[in-house]
Amino acid sequence: METKYIFVTGGVVSSLGKGIIAASLARLLLARGYRVANQKLDPYINVDPGTLNPYEHGECYVTIDGHECDLDLGHYERFTDQRTTRANNITTGRVYQSVINKERHGDYLGKTVQIVPHITDEIKRDIKLLGNTGKYDFVITEIGGVVGDIESLPFLESVRQLKWEMGRNAVLVHLTYVPYIAAAKELKTKPTQHSVKELQREGIQPDILVMRTEHDLTTSVRRKVALFCNVTPDACFQSIDCPTVFEVPIRMDEQGLAECVLSKVGIEERPKADLSAWNNFLHMIEQSTEELRIGIVGKYVELEDSYKSINESLYQAATYHHRKLKKVFISSEGLTGENIARKLDGLDGVVVCPGFGSRGIDGKFVALKYCRENDIPTFGICLGMQCMVIEFARNVLHLAGANSTEMDSSTPYNVIDLMEDQKSITNYGGTMRLGGYACHLKEGSMAAKAYGTLDIVERHRHRFEFNSDFRDQFENAGMKCVGENPDTHLVEVVELPGHRWYLGTQYHPEYSSTVLHPHALFMSFIEAAITFNKEK
Ligand code: GLN
Repeated sequence: METKYIFVTGGVVSSLGKGIIAASLARLLLARGYRVANQKLDPYINVDPGTLNPYEHGECYVTIDGHECDLDLGHYERFTDQRTTRANNITTGRVYQSVINKERHGDYLGKTVQIVPHITDEIKRDIKLLGNTGKYDFVITEIGGVVGDIESLPFLESVRQLKWEMGRNAVLVHLTYVPYIAAAKELKTKPTQHSVKELQREGIQPDILVMRTEHDLTTSVRRKVALFCNVTPDACFQSIDCPTVFEVPIRMDEQGLAECVLSKVGIEERPKADLSAWNNFLHMIEQSTEELRIGIVGKYVELEDSYKSINESLYQAATYHHRKLKKVFISSEGLTGENIARKLDGLDGVVVCPGFGSRGIDGKFVALKYCRENDIPTFGICLGMQCMVIEFARNVLHLAGANSTEMDSSTPYNVIDLMEDQKSITNYGGTMRLGGYACHLKEGSMAAKAYGTLDIVERHRHRFEFNSDFRDQFENAGMKCVGENPDTHLVEVVELPGHRWYLGTQYHPEYSSTVLHPHALFMSFIEAAITFNKEK
């Protein structure tokens, strides 16, 4: 079948959950046997979010093909179990970069290069990129930001043109907010009406409205919205606050969102959805009442989104073990030898997070020493793994001043050092060791047991690495290098055999854990945390 394009826009305010609605719709179409891709267009001028502070838009997610991208791609992968790539996330910066490169190359043959048609044509080309592969029945494109923002105008203009060109093959879902005014005890539709008018001003008529609300929308509210917005009442849906986002696909399916989309694109024969595995996950969430307390040691603890994928991976693994995850965020900046026992008191496991730069680094060493000495299940990810190595070097190998050259360029013991091919790099954007690399695990290691296989591919995002000159010293003292890249022999996994669970990965397993397929290492870590909890 010809690829159908679904656009998801948002109005009234940001943070309504466009990403979750787009991912949920994908899940519902996949459950009906369609082939679906999710794509996100971000209006900011950064070429990619790789250089952004996580405080801006949350964590930077990494695709298997090594693209640093928006965290919504993480939602897509977790919800749909499908891998995204560089083609699934486009920013204004990338669009302009490409157009300017073409202009410098002389591709526009002397024409004046303009927003319309050159920027919009580039955006349209990017939107159709996935559909043109012939691999998808549906491409769901989420437009970042809020309708009415100056910076999203070129994206909306491109959507307007595509809707016009594609006719029934394109559908637009607009997500808005219906506030409840407690004093008047009323749900207010005016912001939704205004937001649709804003879209109409750009020449776009939404086909489907999804209204985020804290209270059930009455039929009269839906009729009113339908009347003012040129949308049929049966195309007005509510997205009511749910206890977990994993309920959203089910709540949307109950209302017939997927059927509505299928009918709008002219598909008469509508397959039944198989959501049994998803419902099984929801059922496990409901059944999991026993708490498991996992400490998350990092420097960005004020914003949950900074470690989004780690939080989600822990949640999935805990749920599959019938435990209710209680995350305890611990700022590494405030950790000292004096307070560490109190700060980690009662935890069943500890994750030491990825990161860059030296802020909060000493606290990570303090936490790791305590966890190692008290045999608390501990998972170090990327910088967390590097800190495991440094802490071990200082306190077990007695290499005073051991460090990563990222933190101390003149350290006497550079146990973590800049990768050889990073030494000549001066440009910060997209130049790390990024994306999927093979890793061979040592037979009999904890990592190999967890994976149930010896050869894996995991995603990376780093410039520094374990310095192999020290490998023998570590191995002899008990820290084993149990995973390495088969081509370069870079150390990818370290562990302490004999401990309950003390393991660090140079890669980011959290990027590939999904709702239906929780990651093996997170599963194994949570299992160890449960055992530790029982032993206490
Ligand atoms: N800063 C470290 C490096 O570049 C770790 C990166 C990370 O944790 N993602 O190697």
